[in-house]
Amino acid sequence: MGQDTSVQTQEFDLLSIGGGSGGIAVANRAASYGARCAVIEPDRLGGTCVNRGCVPKKIMWFGATLGHALDEARGYGYALTRGGHDWAALVAKREAYIRRLNDIYATNMANNGVENVAGRARFVDDHTVAVDGVHYTAQHIVIASGGRPSVPDVPGAEFGITSDGFFELQECPRKVAVIGAGYIAVELAGMLRSFGAEVTMLLRKQHLLRTFDQMLREALFEEMTDAGVEIMARAKVAEIKRHGNGLEIVCDTGTRLPDFDTLIWAIGREPSTDALDLQNTGVATDGQGFVKTDAYQETSVPGVFAIGDVTGRMQLTPVAIAAGRRLADRLYGGQPERKLEYSNIATVVFSHPPIGTVGLTEEQARSEYGGAVKTYQTQFTPMYYAMTEHKAVTTMKLVTVGAPEKVVGCHIIGMASDEIMQGFAVAIRMGACKADLDDTVAIHPTNAEELVTMR
Ligand SMILES: Cc1cc2nc3c(=O)[nH]c(=O)nc-3n(C[C@H](O)[C@H](O)[C@H](O)COP(=O)(O)OP(=O)(O)OC[C@H]3O[C@@H](n4cnc5c(N)ncnc54)[C@H](O)[C@@H]3O)c2cc1C
Repeated sequence: MGQDTSVQTQEFDLLSIGGGSGGIAVANRAASYGARCAVIEPDRLGGTCVNRGCVPKKIMWFGATLGHALDEARGYGYALTRGGHDWAALVAKREAYIRRLNDIYATNMANNGVENVAGRARFVDDHTVAVDGVHYTAQHIVIASGGRPSVPDVPGAEFGITSDGFFELQECPRKVAVIGAGYIAVELAGMLRSFGAEVTMLLRKQHLLRTFDQMLREALFEEMTDAGVEIMARAKVAEIKRHGNGLEIVCDTGTRLPDFDTLIWAIGREPSTDALDLQNTGVATDGQGFVKTDAYQETSVPGVFAIGDVTGRMQLTPVAIAAGRRLADRLYGGQPERKLEYSNIATVVFSHPPIGTVGLTEEQARSEYGGAVKTYQTQFTPMYYAMTEHKAVTTMKLVTVGAPEKVVGCHIIGMASDEIMQGFAVAIRMGACKADLDDTVAIHPTNAEELVTMR
C-alpha cells in the first residue's frame, strides 16, 4: 500500500513524546550536537516535576517548614506566635512562579532550536507519530510521556483527589485522609499537618516507605506520630461514602472513619502509555504498562527509546534528565557507551524532618553480602533544638561491606539531611570506605559532622 500523500509529514532527527523532565532534556542535549529535534507536549512545558510534582511540592514544603520555624522561634527569644496562614496567597504565588518556569523552558528550547509541537502524540507506525492529523517521522523517537497518579477501583473513589488535586486546593483541608505509604503520601501528610490540618494516614500494609531502610521507616513513624499524624497500618480502603460535605472511609476490616473533608489517593503512579497507540508499534511493555528498555534506554523497536517515569525505573526528575542527556550523548555526541547507571542514586524524602538516602538499605546489603556487612548508626538531637521546646531527633546509618568497609549505603533522617546527602553521594559513588570518612576532618558544629565521626 502506498503512503497517504494527503497527510502533511514533517521530518526530524529526534522526536520526544512528552515535554517533561526527560523529554526536554534529551531534545535540548541532542540539539546541542546539531540534531533537528521536536518536543511534543499537549500540556504546559516542564511535565510533572514543574507543574504537579517536585517544584510545587517543595514550595509547599518550604512553607510548612517555616511553620515549624515560627513555633521554634520562641526558643530563640522571638515573641512570635503562629498567626493565620493564607494558603490561597501561597498557592497563587507558587503558580505564578511555575508559569515563569514554563516560559523559561519554552525560551530555552527555542534558543536551542528545538521545536515545540503542542498536542498529543500517538504512534502510526514504528517511526511515525501523528499529532492533530500531522505526521512526524524521525530516525530516533523517545517516549518520555511520564505517568499519572493511580486511583483504586473501589466504590466512591471519585470523591478523593490525588497529588494533582492537592496542588489545586485553594484552602488547607480541615481533616484529611492520605491513603498510601510511599514518599508522596508521607510528604503530603507531613505538609498538611504542619499547615494545621488533622491528618490520618491509611497504609495497606504495615510500614511507611516500605522499600527504605528500616531505621528510616521507624524513625519517620515516630516523628510523624509525634507531630500528631494518625497512622493506621493494615487499613485497606474498601469504600468511600459521601454524607453532605463529609467523606466516610469504610475499611475492609469494617472500620468506619467519618467526617473527612478531603481524601488524597497517594497509592502509586501508573505510566501514561494508553493514548500512545503502542499497538501500532512493536514496543513492548511490562505487566503494569511500563515501557521496557535495555540498558541503553532502547525499547524492543530499534530507534525507539523510552526514558523517565514511563519506564518505571527510579521515578525521579534527575533520573529522567540524566537518562535523556546520556542517550543524546550516545546518539549524537560520539559517546557510544554512554548510559545511565541506575545504582547509587541519592534521593530525598521531603518529610518533616527530611530523609536523605543513597545506596543499599541494610536489608538489601545483608541479602547480597551476608556476614560481610557492618553498619554504623548514631542518633542525636541537633544543637538547634537545645533552645526549642519541640525536638526532632536525627538518626544516621552507614552500611559497609567487607574488610575495606566500603560504604554501600548511607541513610539519614533529620534536620538538613536533604542538603547533606548530595556530597556524600559523590563520595559513595567514587567508592569511599569508612576510613575515608573517618579521615575527613569534621565541619563543626554541624549535623553532617556526625557522618565522619561515627564509631
Ligand atoms: C507529587 C510529586 C512530587 C514529586 N517530587 C519529586 C522530587 O521531589 N524529586 C524528584 O526527583 N522527583 C519528584 N517527583 C517525580 C518527578 O516529578 C518525575 O520523576 C519526573 O517528572 C519524570 O519526568 P518524565 O519526563 O519521565 O515525565 P513527566 O515529567 O511526567 O513528563 C511527561 C510529559 O509527557 C506528556 N505526555 C503524556 N502523554 C503524551 C502524549 N501522548 N503525547 C505527548 N505528550 C504526552 C505529559 O503531558 C507530561 O508533560 C515527584 C512527583 C510527584 C507526582
